[in-house]
Amino acid sequence: MPELPEVETTVRGLAAVLQDVRLTSVVARRADLRRAFPVDLGQRMTGARIVSLGRRAKYGLLGTDRGDSMIFHLGMSGRWRIDPEDIGTHDHLVMHTDSGHVLSLFDPRRFGSVDLVETAAIASFPSFAAMGPEPLGDDFTPAYLRERLKSRASPIKAMLLDQRIVAGLGNIYVCEALNMARISPLRAAEQIGPAKLKPLVTAIKSVLVDAIAAGGSTLRDYARPDGQLGYFAKQWRVYGREGEACPCGGTVKRTVQSGRSTFWCPSCQK
Ligand SMILES: [Zn+2]
Repeated sequence: MPELPEVETTVRGLAAVLQDVRLTSVVARRADLRRAFPVDLGQRMTGARIVSLGRRAKYGLLGTDRGDSMIFHLGMSGRWRIDPEDIGTHDHLVMHTDSGHVLSLFDPRRFGSVDLVETAAIASFPSFAAMGPEPLGDDFTPAYLRERLKSRASPIKAMLLDQRIVAGLGNIYVCEALNMARISPLRAAEQIGPAKLKPLVTAIKSVLVDAIAAGGSTLRDYARPDGQLGYFAKQWRVYGREGEACPCGGTVKRTVQSGRSTFWCPSCQK
């Protein structure tokens, strides 16, 4: 499942072929993914020039010279393909550029989404309206986290997965960051003092930056036939490693929290 670093890597790969390029055709090949494609998507995007590419949480943003922004989410299995050898049943949105590239949004399970909003109104897009700061942004600080976590008795892991507190963190990166910061995922958020919040914020930024760097190293492959953006293998500290050794020498344990697996090390995470 694509997480923030995969989306960031995808956007950087798309930027290499889409920045300042005009779209000569934009065609949805079915009516919907998780929800319907905008009915005017082709009309508003065809002929437009892409003037900005960005990311908010796990959403990719393509801004046009017409003041529109296309917002995509990769869902469970979505990916962009650049210059695919053929277009198949899972290529649901296909775009051609005036520079001769073909891009397809490939999503076998169709949990992804594509929306189109006015760029000036992007902050009020429903998924963004109540969203917390970007974890890699300057607003995400130990002081901010302290303010948001005070009087919150829920486990720290649940708080970090809450998109209203910090945007775009998923299960893998929360497990990894808590291990790096040596904080138990079960600990009540309000009990984590300033001495622990600073290493926690540092760890969250660090695991994301490392993963984006790992993804970036795969981008040189983008131009190969059937090049698929944004997916890469990564060696985790604890995620998916139940029974194996933590970097501290302890043993990684799996605990289920809110129906999801938490991987952590009781030896070093207190
Ligand atoms: Zn450990």
